[in-house]
Amino acid sequence: MTLNLAQTTLKKVFGYDAFRPLQADIIQTVYDRRDALVLMPTGGGKSICFQVPALTLDGTAVVVSPLIALMKDQVEGLRGNGAPAAFINSALSAGQIRDVEDDLLAGRIKLLYVSPEKLVSQSFQPLLRRLKISLFAVDEAHCISAWGHDFRPEYTQLKFLKEQYPDVPMLALTATADKLTRKDIAAQLQLHDPAVFIASFDRPNISMTVRPGQKRFEQIADFLKKHPGQSGIIYCLARRTCEEVAEKLNKRGFKAAHYHAQMPPQERDRVQEDFINDRVPVICATIAFGMGIDKSNVRFVIHYNLPRNLEGYYQEIGRAGRDGLPAEALLFFSYQDVMTYRQMFEEGDALQEQKELKIAKLNRMYQFAEAPVCRRKTVLHYFGEAFERSCGNCDVCSNPPRQFDGTTAAQKALSALLRMEEKAGINMLIDVLRGSRRQDILQAGYDKIKTYGAGREYSAEEWQFLLSQMLHHGLIEIAYDENNCLKATDAGRAVVFGNQQVRLALPPKPEEKAAERAAAAALRQPGRTQLLRGELFERLVALRRKIGQQQGVPPYLVFSDATIEEMAQKRPVTDSDMLYVSGVGERKLQLYGNAFIEEIRRFVREKTGDGLNVPGSTYLLTWDLFQQGLPIEEIARQREISPVTVISHLAVMYERGELVDISRWTSPEALDLVQGALSLFEEPYQLKDIHEHFKQRFSYEAIRFAIADAKRKKKGK
Ligand code: ADP
Ligand code: ZN
Repeated sequence: MTLNLAQTTLKKVFGYDAFRPLQADIIQTVYDRRDALVLMPTGGGKSICFQVPALTLDGTAVVVSPLIALMKDQVEGLRGNGAPAAFINSALSAGQIRDVEDDLLAGRIKLLYVSPEKLVSQSFQPLLRRLKISLFAVDEAHCISAWGHDFRPEYTQLKFLKEQYPDVPMLALTATADKLTRKDIAAQLQLHDPAVFIASFDRPNISMTVRPGQKRFEQIADFLKKHPGQSGIIYCLARRTCEEVAEKLNKRGFKAAHYHAQMPPQERDRVQEDFINDRVPVICATIAFGMGIDKSNVRFVIHYNLPRNLEGYYQEIGRAGRDGLPAEALLFFSYQDVMTYRQMFEEGDALQEQKELKIAKLNRMYQFAEAPVCRRKTVLHYFGEAFERSCGNCDVCSNPPRQFDGTTAAQKALSALLRMEEKAGINMLIDVLRGSRRQDILQAGYDKIKTYGAGREYSAEEWQFLLSQMLHHGLIEIAYDENNCLKATDAGRAVVFGNQQVRLALPPKPEEKAAERAAAAALRQPGRTQLLRGELFERLVALRRKIGQQQGVPPYLVFSDATIEEMAQKRPVTDSDMLYVSGVGERKLQLYGNAFIEEIRRFVREKTGDGLNVPGSTYLLTWDLFQQGLPIEEIARQREISPVTVISHLAVMYERGELVDISRWTSPEALDLVQGALSLFEEPYQLKDIHEHFKQRFSYEAIRFAIADAKRKKKGK
């Protein structure tokens, strides 16, 4: 089996021009009949690694997948591309399963998705033995490891596959695996000397921002205003918060729904379906949401509360931008969340060791949120990946905090703290520094201390920011066992009483400036960070939704955002141009090509009517008049172009696959001779040279169409 065939399949079936890094190597490994372990981030393109071999090799590929919803989605996606796929799991009736079995035995299925329970069950073995299996793919392979975060006992039984089918190559794929889990996967599946592929976990298209957790709701409302109609998830810690935020958003005129584990299953399914089908763009959910969702056009993920560790954070934001287009991750940070988790962990009945691990991970999480260091650098380092430059696509990079000599500010805070006998929490301390007349402050007599009101030059938000850094530098600490009040450390005391200098940073400047800078950075940067959207994009999105509804598939399975965006830019108005758009394979062209071409043509015509010069419109206008049956001269007159130009437009449309009777301008003899001689000339062909070559025997038109015909044949029209 050769990679050439893989390449052709990628284009024909999926409509993609090139493999992403590692995909080709992984596919080659399968062709070499070797086992492999594949680590790629969500959205990295793992599926192609087994789907392409499955479609090109003899027999059926068996794909193990743990989530029913995900299975259905993948199979629908494959079928949408004309690839014969099916699934077997507990959601099917006995009759449905029999149909799939018949198809399998008749060799009609290239990819069979199956749940691990089903695959290991005794009743499934006779069928399995009768299949010609091309490869096994174990998706979400980390589920096999008790070290991982998603352990599923059924997975451990999968070791029988290698025992029973030692010669069938096996791919184990996952998006999350540290070294330990990785080793465990290979050992438990009994992979034989596996090739290991580790892709970068960077998701450069996701921009990361951390904001202080004050007035979160207002900040979210602002954010949504700037992202009208886009799909996104707002993760909240508590069920109640999910409900409240969704309700408040709806009151403000945003369309949102909530989702959490306490809702009845039907209701949960409905919310998920509404989200997938672009009926409700925003879901306020606990982290239970999103697990089985492959929706590729999630444009943002907001963390209303701090995630409990960086693994969770990265996995959750990874649900955004799977289509590779710019997406945003926005995290709100507050100490209150840190304290809530601490309490949860302390009160949980986990072993001491596990508690400590959880707390250590939590600390890394909030250090990430606080440190004025490139966010991407911090996360990737955490996952053990070197990333030395600054990314240019996070809040720290695009809007660096303002460093200053913070000694005086730190002294004020520390001295206030000490004068309150280290009995105040963060909010109380800030209020005292800012001279608040809060009842309890007056009662405690804190308005009498020397530093009361001494910190009015900074806003509460700025103080929050400064105190975070002081925590970070180890000048103060939180006594979790004493109502979370603040204590000065020895290092802190050295700042108050000694002459220890402290560098601190103030929060980034207001939003507008940040946006300006981000835009400027986007221009400087090779990777795109801004979505390119306009009226045509919106119209094509609406069409996609309508078609999705008619066909009963999620709109993003009709075409991804990336594909729609490319269509909106390139404006293909013929079949062959449409095939050049990434994500348009032959099947989808057949199914949806016409509808999209029609919409684009309509758009182009309307805009040209507005007197605008729209790319692609000139051919189309000539073409329209030609189709109305007007003679060439009349078309030329109406369009104010020469008849030669009209003919050249028609030649282009013919070359692109439109039906034109070319016998008016050329002859079989001209076609034959001119095409035979083309190899003597270089592209772009000069009509004059060919004209001379044949001693003026053929007209320019005849030559023009002979060339168009040659190109048309080359494109396989
Ligand atoms: P994963 O399973 O790793 O999360 P997917 O396989 O779902 O990722 O791929 C993510 C997206 O990238 C999908 O929309 C997929 O069609 C697209 N994709 C995968 N490979 C390519 C490629 N070679 N060129 C363009 N798009 C690709
Ligand atoms: Zn950065």
